[in-house]
Amino acid sequence: MEYFYTPPSHIVTDSLTIEGEEFAHLTHVMRKKTSDAIRVVDGIGNAYDVVIQELNKHVAHCAIQSHHHRLHEPSIDVTLAVGVLKNHAKFDFLVEKCTELGVNTIIPLLTERTIPHHGKTDRWQKLALAAMKQCGRCVLPHVSEAQTLDSFLKKTHASSLKLIPHEKVESPSIMHVAKEKHFPSAVLCVGPEGGFTENEVARAITAGFSAVSLGKRRLRTETAAIAAVSLLMMSGER
Ligand code: SAH
Repeated sequence: MEYFYTPPSHIVTDSLTIEGEEFAHLTHVMRKKTSDAIRVVDGIGNAYDVVIQELNKHVAHCAIQSHHHRLHEPSIDVTLAVGVLKNHAKFDFLVEKCTELGVNTIIPLLTERTIPHHGKTDRWQKLALAAMKQCGRCVLPHVSEAQTLDSFLKKTHASSLKLIPHEKVESPSIMHVAKEKHFPSAVLCVGPEGGFTENEVARAITAGFSAVSLGKRRLRTETAAIAAVSLLMMSGER
């Protein structure tokens, strides 16, 4: 079943339309025709099985056959704040993998050891959209504008499990902390290639984050993010 995206504004009770880039993907790339069955997701938690009724030059008109709420979505809401990487391909990879793993928000962080940011939010948001469709999710992770660690820490993230994986911490492990209590939401804060400074870690702890270990080995940022998100997703599943 191929997945396509259309925003909630294009959906009414028993029908929806697909336009723009998604229409081009539907017709030119996937070569869909009238009466073909496809699945359309709205990015805010709804998936619709539809049949294409009419294709004109720019719009596909589809009849909704059935609706699935939060199809393939995790039960824990995870926000990943992560230092922007010098290696853009690795950050692209990180955005794609964490989307597949079920993250809902990605915040590119500017920290003492990140290089000036090149404003790639649109690119990363497009990667998240493609990954959402590929993996069969119906929630589109929001990739925010890059922000400094301190502006990120100022947000309260009330009631969330707040974790900062740090390679200089031997315990507790992230598993131990995540299993302690079931949290509906979690916020992860992962450092860039050069890691966080001790002062940055201290500021995160003051802001309510717990420093946790991801094991004895020093993981690259993308590995640490993927490992931490995976462990939270598994501990969050009931
Ligand atoms: N500062 C390290 C590398 C940082 S790795 C060095 O000296 O090379 C990038 C980020 O991954 C870290 O900021 C931390 O958030 C996370 N990380 C890497 N290995 C980790 C581990 N074993 N436990 C917890 N977090 C880890």
